[in-house]
Amino acid sequence: MTDLTHWINGKRVKGTSGRSADVFNPATGEVQARCPLASTAEVDAAIAGAQAAQPAWAATNPQRRARVLMKFVSLLNRDMDKLAEALSREHGKTLPDAAGDVQRGLEVVEYCIGAPHLLKGEFTDSAGPGIDMYSMRQPLGVTAGITPFNFPAMIPMWMFAPALACGNAFILKPSERDPSVPLMLAELMQEAGLPDGVLQVVNGDKEAVDALLHSDIVQSIGFVGSTPIAAYIYATGCANGKRVQCFGGAKNHMIVMPDADMDQAADALVGAGYGAAGERCMAISVAVPVGDETADRLISKLVPRIEKLKVGPYTAGNDVDFGPVVTAAAKANIERLVQSGVDQGAELVVDGRGFAMQGYEEGFFVGAHLFDRVTKDMDIYKTEIFGPVLSTVRAQTYEEAIGLAMDHEYGNGTAIFTRDGDTARDFANRINIGMVGVNVPIPVPLAYHTFGGWKKSVFGDLNQHGPDAFKFYTRTKTVTARWPSGIKEGGEFSIPVME
Ligand code: NAD
Repeated sequence: MTDLTHWINGKRVKGTSGRSADVFNPATGEVQARCPLASTAEVDAAIAGAQAAQPAWAATNPQRRARVLMKFVSLLNRDMDKLAEALSREHGKTLPDAAGDVQRGLEVVEYCIGAPHLLKGEFTDSAGPGIDMYSMRQPLGVTAGITPFNFPAMIPMWMFAPALACGNAFILKPSERDPSVPLMLAELMQEAGLPDGVLQVVNGDKEAVDALLHSDIVQSIGFVGSTPIAAYIYATGCANGKRVQCFGGAKNHMIVMPDADMDQAADALVGAGYGAAGERCMAISVAVPVGDETADRLISKLVPRIEKLKVGPYTAGNDVDFGPVVTAAAKANIERLVQSGVDQGAELVVDGRGFAMQGYEEGFFVGAHLFDRVTKDMDIYKTEIFGPVLSTVRAQTYEEAIGLAMDHEYGNGTAIFTRDGDTARDFANRINIGMVGVNVPIPVPLAYHTFGGWKKSVFGDLNQHGPDAFKFYTRTKTVTARWPSGIKEGGEFSIPVME
């Protein structure tokens, strides 16, 4: 049994609160580690360390800060296998998928190496007689982020890379379900040359989060996780005067038009619906074929593909399509929702209930499920299941299909499969959802664009990564400077205008 720690002022530090959470190996169901849950006093100590370290980091020129990130990228590549293995062992996702989790974080670090350019600011020469005007982007100070279990490498990097590149200190509160990789990332940042205290990792639960939310020193909070917690953190953080961005849950629809290549659409749905056991905020959980004939063709293509999916532990390497879900509670919740779908009249076309993995009977494995004839009033349609369950809602027209996606409370991602450019273009223009795929099932934007949903999938104004991250982690200061010889002539009492 491993006792995990926090990472404070450049060292692994044992928890002192006396509280901890079990960290499971989802494939075997065994408790493999204990994660300390920080008290308010422990969080306050981490904040104080970050506050002490931040001014010197902010005074380090942007190019030198970027060099730390550059070195960090090479260390991530050096340790890729080790990181992926630690990630899979606690999360349950396959090794290639875990390496992808690290890679998509690494790409944002690469983008942040461009910080010297991104932080250049603006300058107007001779804005008035003898007057120059310039805007600087300055760091906020101590910033913090709270991250979910499903991307324990990628999402912490999406937050701390831009925060640090901008000259902030950053306090990471990772998910208590898979905290090992965030600690390893902090160690690698130290090896890359980051001064101690600039990046702190505090493990914990609501108590630690509340300590961050109520600290007068913490200037901003980034959050990624479920919508109810996102709403709570946004409201509390804003009420406490912080800059806050929260990214919440999802129910992503994929519309399949009658003219789509049905093999391509079925392949896309299987990968996007069941990859990572459906534990992705960009997973497709609702297929919307347009017309009954399209629906019948799609289902007939999906069923054999789903029945062939290989479920297993990450130790089976490339031989597995998806692994277990993260905890026994997550598995029970998925099973409860599947049963509600059956009870409420949906047709369970592929029945993954009662799935057991030989040799891993105590693991949190869930078989793949496919529902047909799901309707809007059913719980499996309204709720984010976050498991290997794909629901099919049959629409009779394109308008009905787009209306379904538009009426759903979540607006993270969506996709349309069609061969018709006019339909695709109309869909991309009208849909009220933040990330749209055209014949692309999981349209996660690359690092130099921004990531974010609409509606109940987001709280706040700016997206993650890309240029928005540099806006979120800095504030603008605008200086108007005059160096005239006649300044001693007296004060000006009317508002200055530049003529
Ligand atoms: P979660 O909301 O349970 O937990 C997220 C974080 O909040 C964790 O660090 C957790 O410790 C903390 N937390 C939990 N309960 C809290 C409370 N009562 N008060 C304060 N903090 C609390 O989410 P999860 O199960 O870890 O992750 C899955 C969810 O995240 C899904 O809903 C998924 O859609 C969402 N997600 C969204 C995005 C996105 O970009 N929109 C990306 C990944 C995951």
